[in-house]
Amino acid sequence: MKEVPDAIVCEGCDAVYRRTPLRPREASHCARCGTELDRHAGDQGARVLPLTVASLILFAIANLFPIVEIELRGLSSQTTLAGAVIVLTGEGMSVVALLVLATTILFPLLQLCILFYLLVPMARERRPAGFGVLVRILQSLRPWGMIEVFLLGVLVAIVKLSSLAQVVAGPALWGFMGLTVLLTAVLSFNPRTFWEMAFEPRPGQKA
Ligand SMILES: [Zn+2]
Repeated sequence: MKEVPDAIVCEGCDAVYRRTPLRPREASHCARCGTELDRHAGDQGARVLPLTVASLILFAIANLFPIVEIELRGLSSQTTLAGAVIVLTGEGMSVVALLVLATTILFPLLQLCILFYLLVPMARERRPAGFGVLVRILQSLRPWGMIEVFLLGVLVAIVKLSSLAQVVAGPALWGFMGLTVLLTAVLSFNPRTFWEMAFEPRPGQKA
């Protein structure tokens, strides 16, 4: 009936360990290569929620302010990343536009919103509706939420647009830089932790 698997596979060297219950503020490491294997579930959730909120705020700043100035047919205009994606589509680069749209806007926003939706009630020991489905969506999105993919998307957009556009050194650019740092921390949170938070009793947790 417990859905938490008893084995942990090291992400660094594929060594297999038996999962041991951890106390708050405890983490386990691989004996062979030192990679972190596991961390107390409640600690991770408590750490990730404020980072998720901050990421959502920076995400809004990064996407609502213009990030590029585009010159088309003699007219110069400033546009947001979403606006730049529309320009890329118009210039016949729809595959690039889709890649940029998915990796820099859709996937991170979806992940942040699901995390927020799950973490807020769980901080009060409540399980939100659709819990299982949403955790599975998070797990399947995880490879796409990796910071390298996010950076690649931003980089591809800037390089592809460089002939048409100039990057605006404004709030959106700083927003993206800050978001890169925050997403690194947020995405280190493994969605499987949700199962532990939901199924394991958490003694010592404040009511
Ligand atoms: Zn290892």
